[in-house]
Parts: sequence; C-alpha cells; structure tokens
Amino acid sequence: MCFSTIITMTMNQWSCLNFLNTTIVRNNKKIDLLCTPEEFKIWMTNEAQLNDAVTIQFSYLQSWIDSLNMLKEITNYRTELAEKLAAFMNGVISKEMLKERIETDLQQAAFILHFFKNKKIIVPTETHFEGFKSVILLHLYGLIETNDIEKLCHCANPDCILVFINKTGKRKWCSMKICGNRHKVERFSKKSTSKKQGDDIHKT
Ligand SMILES: [Zn+2]
Repeated sequence: MCFSTIITMTMNQWSCLNFLNTTIVRNNKKIDLLCTPEEFKIWMTNEAQLNDAVTIQFSYLQSWIDSLNMLKEITNYRTELAEKLAAFMNGVISKEMLKERIETDLQQAAFILHFFKNKKIIVPTETHFEGFKSVILLHLYGLIETNDIEKLCHCANPDCILVFINKTGKRKWCSMKICGNRHKVERFSKKSTSKKQGDDIHKT
C-alpha cells in the first residue's frame, strides 16, 4: 500500500490527528510516513484540502514548506503530541490538564483573523515551524471545543497505533481497508481451520 493511499484512508477531519497518524505499524515494525521533506509536502498538500480553515492556515506556511530541508523538529513535535494525547486517552491527565497544556503551549503564539467567504479563520502570524505547531494546537483545541476528544479511540487492532474519532461509538477500525479487512480474513481463516479440524476428528 503506498504512502498517499494510507494517508487518505486514515484521514480524520482533524489535522492534529492526521498528523499523529503519519506513524503506522506494519508487521510489528514502526513505519514513519514522513521521512523526507518531500513526503511532508505531500502530506501538507493533501491536508490543505480538508476544509477552508486548513487551506488558509497552511497557505500562510507555504514558503516555509517550500524551503524545508529537514524534518527533525516536526517529527519530534509529533512524538510530543502523541505522548500528550496518549496521556489523556490512558487517563494519566484529565481534559482540564490537557486544556492547560494547550494554553501554555500557545502562550507565545500570535494570531490574526482572515476572512474567507464571510467566515473568520484564525491564522498564526508565525510562518515557520512555530506557525505549523500553532495550527496543530488550534485543531487540538477544536477537538476539545466540539467534545470530539471524548470520542477519541485507538484502533481495535492491538498492533495498530492509529487513532480516530468514534462518532457513533460503533466504529472499531482506523480504516476498514487497513485493519478491518485484515481482521475479517484472519477470523475467516481461523474458522476454516477449526472447521477442518472438526471434520478431521469426525473422520477418525
Ligand atoms: Zn488500525
């Protein structure tokens, strides 16, 4: 499965989660989907199509994206964000504490308002990494504001590290195509094996 297919299939409505979901596990091996500046640029372009707010917010970062030559800062930040959300999901920190941490992280950030078709869009004035970080934090803030944070789930595949918003409470997989179908195939092959073993017992 290629990079952009995985990215598209696991896409949430929140950039902060899509950013986290750029690390996946396959055959017990951690795979980073953002290994080169080129991959990050593709991710940003993909993400910019998510909604008007992201389109505008990322457009302010375009010259930074174009001149990027290393991703260390970005991937380190992704680890930091993953730890923060894992702490919340595992009950180590409360929602109130998470809010405080976002507020602290955004303390130095400055924003402007951009009108897009009569809709206000909050855009960070920093146009480099700090601006990107602020956009991700704004989306995390949105996750709390809409209470989607309460529906944040890990994929039911224990080997998968992807997260998603379980809107209906019924969704189990990050993506049916990635983990759901694999589970179906495994269940089917287990069933066939035990049926075959049962048949063999009857024959003896
Ligand atoms: Zn999964």
